[in-house]
Amino acid sequence: MKYIDEFRDGTLARGLARSISAEADPARTYRLMEFCGGHTHAIFRYGVQDLMPANVRFVHGPGCPVCVLPMARIDQAIAMAVEHGVTLCTYGDLMRVPASERKSLLKAKAEGADIRMIYSTQDALAIARKAPERQVVLFAIGFETTTPPTAVALKTARAEGLENFSVYCNHVLTPAALGTILNAANETSGDKAGVQLDGILGPSHVSTVIGSRSYECVPAEFGKPVVIAGFEPLDVMQSVLMLIRQINNGQAQVENQYTRAVTRDGNRKAQALMAEVFRPHETFEWRGLGFLPGSALRIAEAYAEFDAEQRFPVAPGSSREIKGCECPSVLRGVMEPTDCKLFGTVCTPENPMGACMVSSEGACAAYWSYGRFR
Ligand code: SF4
Repeated sequence: MKYIDEFRDGTLARGLARSISAEADPARTYRLMEFCGGHTHAIFRYGVQDLMPANVRFVHGPGCPVCVLPMARIDQAIAMAVEHGVTLCTYGDLMRVPASERKSLLKAKAEGADIRMIYSTQDALAIARKAPERQVVLFAIGFETTTPPTAVALKTARAEGLENFSVYCNHVLTPAALGTILNAANETSGDKAGVQLDGILGPSHVSTVIGSRSYECVPAEFGKPVVIAGFEPLDVMQSVLMLIRQINNGQAQVENQYTRAVTRDGNRKAQALMAEVFRPHETFEWRGLGFLPGSALRIAEAYAEFDAEQRFPVAPGSSREIKGCECPSVLRGVMEPTDCKLFGTVCTPENPMGACMVSSEGACAAYWSYGRFR
């Protein structure tokens, strides 16, 4: 299949692996963070780590929207459904993420709350059209990739006069998280401790929207190279080689490996939509990273009547993790999933203790799915 098979070619992969081995300086270690959970899964699914020399290490980042959503936001969504009796529409992965008091959206649904799994924002709109007597809330999550469809849903609701539709907005912004992780590299202890990194494999789908320009602050402020990488195994390997070459040459700049989809400016139409419908949150909590200024979006005043948090207020929750769950450290790249004592024992995809084991983009789920055990 065009654009798939050619980026999974074994002969080319072995050639790239030879180049990486030849060019990686044996006297040093290369710690490369793949920001996206999609990259983490590609790395393990295709055995990319096994093709790397021992001194080229992948550090897994927080690029999984389900994983970074703090427990308090799920608690609030459950409270909206239970206390206000709304129909809450959300994506499948989120249903099983543990919330407070051993609850989850799935358990709340089993106890009678009207919580429905959807595949797209259009499904939520369709539910609202079909049931005008119900208040339908879209539990919107995701990075910049999924934000424009939420903006379209809000504009559609306004154009159609859908008074029973609103959005519980949890869209987060990639550059703020990346900056936090690079800042944390100097913290060596406590729950803000970070990890030293030599380079970043930049998000691919997010970058189709925001463009490679959005990462130019990383070399400028932190002196680290960024390569925007596609999601296929050869994309990842070529991006690793590009990072190694920059590091060896003492360079730090943004390069774009994923030129078949990403431009420097990104998708200006999508950006304009986002700017019309959303505003930056002053601060927003991320699992593992804490409260980060300007790291998420809220609904703009002009669309306030579609803001579920204004329509259906609930008490703010407080976030914590299930005892023993190391998701915050996994999301900061400080720990690997197998460092968690619960991995594969108490915590499995059938019985997840943390978001990183639930989500199809979570690092713990990747280790489990592709047989990475100590
Ligand atoms: Fe949390 Fe489970 Fe991952 Fe441990 S293995 S960090 S409990 S999700």
